[in-house]
Amino acid sequence: MERPNKLSGLTIKHKTGCGVIYVTVNGLNNKPYEIFIKGNFHCGAMLESLSKSLSLIMREGSDIQEIITQFKGIRCFNNEDRTQSNCIFCITSTIQEYIKENFK
Ligand SMILES: [Zn+2]
Repeated sequence: MERPNKLSGLTIKHKTGCGVIYVTVNGLNNKPYEIFIKGNFHCGAMLESLSKSLSLIMREGSDIQEIITQFKGIRCFNNEDRTQSNCIFCITSTIQEYIKENFK
């Protein structure tokens, strides 16, 4: 299926231990359809690759909750915090926030 020209979603700015990160989740039919992760730290190619991989998973209708579960133990190299300041937590929490706001 071709990507629709117009999608709406949610963007959250997170202040992480690594720096500021912007995570955008766009949806289709109230389900996460694609994700964009922008930050001027970490490797830009890694963030883009992660965004594209997660978007593919979302589009195929795979269980995104299972991915979120798999990501739970992952922490950034420069902070031990599992919550707020952890980039991976910020990415998964944005996906969950989108689901919470759009699940009807
Ligand atoms: Zn990080």
